[in-house]
Amino acid sequence: MAGEPQADCLFCKIVSGEVPATVVRETDTTVAFRDINPQAPTHVLVIPKVHHPDAASLSAAEPQIAADVLREAGAVAADEKIDGTGYRVVFNTGSGAGQTVFHAHAHVLGGRGLNWPPG
Ligand code: C5P
Repeated sequence: MAGEPQADCLFCKIVSGEVPATVVRETDTTVAFRDINPQAPTHVLVIPKVHHPDAASLSAAEPQIAADVLREAGAVAADEKIDGTGYRVVFNTGSGAGQTVFHAHAHVLGGRGLNWPPG
C-alpha cells in the first residue's frame, strides 16, 4: 500500500533503525541524516518516514508531509548555519537525474560555492 514501509528499501530501514545513520533532526513525519558520501561540507538528506518512491509521488499522496520535508530542509540549513551564504535543496527524480534510492528525499547541500547549472 502507498506509504507503507518497503522491506527492500534502504531509507525505510534507516527510519526503523535497522540501518544506522547520523541523524541530525527528527520529527513525527521526517528524519534528517548526514549523507554517507557527502558532496559538500554540509550534505544532509531529509526523508519522510512514509515510503513514496520520489518527491512527486509523495507530494501527490501526502502534501502535508511533503511540506514537512521542505520545512525541515530549511531547519537543517539554519542548524548548519548555511542559510546566510546560500544552499541548495535537490530532489533527484528518476535514474536519468541521478536518483539511486527510490524513497523520496531532499538533499540539503551547502558550505561551499555551488555552480549553476548543476552537472
Ligand atoms: O538522489 P540519490 O537517490 O542519488 O541520493 C541517494 C543518496 O543516499 C546518495 O547521496 C548516497 O550517498 C546516500 N546514501 C546514504 N546512506 C546510505 C546509502 C546512500 O546517505 N546508507
